Amino acid sequence: MPTVSPSLLLKHCRLPDDSPQVSPVDIAIAADKIVAIAPQLDLSAPTVIEVAGSLVSPPFVESHIHLDSALTAGQPRVNQSGTLFEGIEIWRDRKQALDFDDVCQRAMQALKQQASQGILYVRTHADVSEASLTALKALLSVREAVKDWMTLQVVAFPQDGLYGSPDSADLLEEALRLGTDVVGGIPHYELTREDGVRSVQRIFALATQYDRLIDIHCDEIDDDQSRFLEVVAACALRSGLGSRVTASHTTAFASYNNAYALKLMGLLRRSQINFIANPLINITLQGRTDTYPKRRGVTRVKELWQSGLNVSLGHDCIQDPWYSLGTGNMLDVASMAVHVCQMTGQDEIQACYDMITTQGAKTLNIADGYGIEVGKPANLIVLDAESPQAAIRDRATVKAVISRGQILAETTPPRLSWYL
Ligand SMILES: [Zn+2]
Repeated sequence: MPTVSPSLLLKHCRLPDDSPQVSPVDIAIAADKIVAIAPQLDLSAPTVIEVAGSLVSPPFVESHIHLDSALTAGQPRVNQSGTLFEGIEIWRDRKQALDFDDVCQRAMQALKQQASQGILYVRTHADVSEASLTALKALLSVREAVKDWMTLQVVAFPQDGLYGSPDSADLLEEALRLGTDVVGGIPHYELTREDGVRSVQRIFALATQYDRLIDIHCDEIDDDQSRFLEVVAACALRSGLGSRVTASHTTAFASYNNAYALKLMGLLRRSQINFIANPLINITLQGRTDTYPKRRGVTRVKELWQSGLNVSLGHDCIQDPWYSLGTGNMLDVASMAVHVCQMTGQDEIQACYDMITTQGAKTLNIADGYGIEVGKPANLIVLDAESPQAAIRDRATVKAVISRGQILAETTPPRLSWYL
């Protein structure tokens, strides 16, 4: 029993890894910590939530989003081809009009939308290809503004490449000096393969020098010759940075021949890097140059998971030049992964839920403070579902979001009335 009296009590909670036979538990929270978990806690608290057997989960983790471009779809024009490269061109025009307040206001709106749907951990990329570093400075200030209720990691992301223009590499380093959590890159978009390899080496040198995590947009193309993933994995292995390194997208991996993929998988297992797949976006962007058969364009999520590698899922875009749809709901992302990656077995659907929760926390290197356990920070969500599988199936409403022991947001699930 806790020695301090709880401030908040959740009654009859079903946890994500419970079998249906296990009785629900009560969870007691004091200040910002979980202080007790047991089937029948004989405790009272000023605020009691009767969960009545619903799923209570650690919060969702959004491990890959671009908040600087969020909520700009159609500005200055719509992406007619639907390709990644037209998206980059449109963003190049839109970012000329970027100012600090514009980025802060849209990022804050997107973060509130995410938090209301159960996300309390976000890794956002910030485009650092403009000399003013406006997007980056704005997102660093948003990180500070939300820190009491949301953990936001900012990646310095050179959208136009490190060696595409003379100043890009210096801007990336300046972004690290300003305090980004993570260093990023985009080797498949560099002018030559050699520049791509050089960019990965430079990113690892900077990460070591400034003691930062790495998250690289890697091989986001249908070109089966785009092979920067092996470079990232080899650098991770040699540098010992391992699980501090993430390869995002890696869609070309879905186009590699199986002989090469098998050899690569051995290197990936040794490297212990993390993977982020963005199935909503890559099922949409990839395969655009194919006729039929048309590729799905999402990396080998199921095989990476079966190999014991850490895979998490991201939304990538919310209403921006690459994707005019999206609401920030991680259950949409998990549902798309279930479908596109053909992970329809019960344990596979559970794995897709883990990819938006515990595995996302591993990617962000925050696993120590994450999860529903006594002594951990009181961050949890109550879903209108009895299991992770049902939550994905129904895109369940997140009824309550609790951040640092405080109720941050509540949503009442829709109620249907029939008049037949
Ligand atoms: Zn991205």
